[in-house]
Formats: sequence, C-alpha cells, structure tokens
Amino acid sequence: MNFHYALATESTNCFKAFVKGGTFIKATLSFISLINHIFTYWPIYSFCTIKNINLQVFSETMRPKIILNAAMSADGKISTIKRKQVRISGEYDFARMDRMRADADAVMVGIGTVLADDPSLTVKSERLRYEHKQRWGRKDPIRIVVDSMARTPIDADIFNKGDGDIIIAVCNNAPGERVKKLNEKSRIITIGRDRVDLVGLMSNLKDSGINTLMVEGGATLNWALISGKLVDEIHTYIGAIILGGENAPTLVDGTGFFGKEDAVKLELASMEKMDNGVLLRWHVLNQDKK
Ligand code: NAP
Repeated sequence: MNFHYALATESTNCFKAFVKGGTFIKATLSFISLINHIFTYWPIYSFCTIKNINLQVFSETMRPKIILNAAMSADGKISTIKRKQVRISGEYDFARMDRMRADADAVMVGIGTVLADDPSLTVKSERLRYEHKQRWGRKDPIRIVVDSMARTPIDADIFNKGDGDIIIAVCNNAPGERVKKLNEKSRIITIGRDRVDLVGLMSNLKDSGINTLMVEGGATLNWALISGKLVDEIHTYIGAIILGGENAPTLVDGTGFFGKEDAVKLELASMEKMDNGVLLRWHVLNQDKK
C-alpha cells in the first residue's frame, strides 16, 4: 500500500465518521489516526522521494508476478497485416510456452486476441496437464480475458475446451445482457468505468490467490500493462521471418512514449538460440508492485 493510498483511506474514514454523524469519540479517534498517519509516513515518503528511493521496499505486493510472453518476427511483428494468428516459433518454443502456461496460476489475453485468434489458452501436453492438476486441482491455469464491453463470443474456444475457471473482466458500462450470458460460463469481474481498470484487476486477482500471471498479448494489452508498470518480465521468441506492414501489430502498440526518459527500461536476463530463432528473457526495471 503506498503513502497516497493509505492517506486517502485514512482521510475517507475520518470524513465518513463525521458525515455519518458517528459519536464525537469515534470522529476524534479517526482524526487522531489521520494525523498519526501523516506524521509517521510523511518523513519516510519525503526522504524516499528526495533520494529517489523506490517506495516498493515499504509496500506489500499488491498484484501477481506478471510475465509477458510473445512470439514475434525479426522485424517485431506479432502477426501479419491480416491480424490473424501466424506461426512464428517452432516446436521447442511451443513446448517452452506450454511449460510456462502450466507453471502459471493464470493466463491472460485481451479481447482483440480472442476475436482474432480464438485461443483456448489450455496446456497442450498431457504430462503437463497431469502435473498442473496435481498442484492446482485442475488441468489448466485460470484463463482470463480483458474485455471491457463483454464482447467475448459465447461460443469462443475458451468456453469449449479446457478445465478450470474462466474469468472475464468487464467494465461498469458493459451491456448487462451480454454480461449475464457470459456469467453463465465464467466468473465476471466488473472493474473500471469505461474500460477495465488493470491496476484494480491485478489487485483483485492477487486477493483471489493468483500469484503468477502469464500474459499472452496482444499488442494493445501489452502496451497498457507495460506503460502502466505492471509487468515484471518479458519473454520474446524472435523468429527467423520478416512479416512487415505498418498496420501489423508489434509486440507493444498503444500510443507509445514521447521520449527515452519515459521509456520502460529492460535488463537482459538470458538469451538462447531456439528452433530457427532466439529466445530473449528481459527483466523490466522499476516496476511498481501496485
Ligand atoms: P489485444 O491486445 O488482445 O486486446 C486489446 C483490447 O483489450 C482492447 O482493444 C480493449 O478492448 C481491451 N481492453 C480492456 N481493457 C483494456 C485496458 N485497460 N487497456 C487496454 N486494452 C484493454 O488486441 P490487439 O492489440 O488487437 O492484438 C491482437 C493481435 O495480436 C492479433 O493479431 C493476434 O494474432 C496477435 N497476437 C499475437 C501473439 C504472439 O505471441 N505472436 C499473441 C497474442 C496476440 P475493449 O475496450 O473492448 O475492452
């Protein structure tokens, strides 16, 4: 919990005590707690800000560990201009990705990927499915779609294949009828007004016991998570192919950063030749555990 959040909570409690017309003692105690909070945390917060120390060391982890995985062409495209699934990696990378899925508590994609590729997000290897079941009680990780307006088709493969929970994250403005239909086949998390609030969603997932989350794209969701400082590692398989096309999705699309100073910085963790391409594992630096 960061300073601003804690302060806001204390202030709200204090305000509520007055508004609700609670006893004088209750309101006074709330006020003392607020003052106490300011005097306890403000010096630490100011010191860290001046010294540019990451406040994360003082905060609890409010979200799962998030690993983003993707296969891209040598020119950075994750699909063609048709925006349909294209096989970029080979069998070793496929097996590696299957292992990552099996090791994760949950896997996540954006609605754009569901509409384009209709993935089932299941673990494919029977051995890994068995192992996953031994540890988690079901053969697949929890599958999550980030889908503000509840556009996930009711006959999507995610509902037809696999074992275990499915979560569709929608926003408050999602049409009620569609949400109701999806709720018959999945658990709905409603979070955010016009779009899914990713910080809130991650905190919600963490609260429900999801500690490791594998994100499998696409380009828009990747941008939202990376620019929102919600990614810890990025694993990219770079295939021996050029796809081209300025409208073909890249690893990270979105609006982009204005300058290098805003850009997300990475540290190369490993590099491995695989199939006809290369697998790069990056640590993302300065990510908040919001
Ligand atoms: P996407 O990233 O899968 O989904 C984006 C959608 O997520 C948004 O349009 C938005 O739709 C929804 N969303 C909800 N809340 C959001 C938030 N807070 N921030 C951002 N988005 C939010 O779609 P995409 O960018 O079109 O990517 C799909 C392409 O990627 C396809 O061509 C697919 O083949 C490719 N792909 C490639 C790989 C690979 O590894 N090579 C993996 C996956 C996908 P709403 O506003 O309606 O919610």
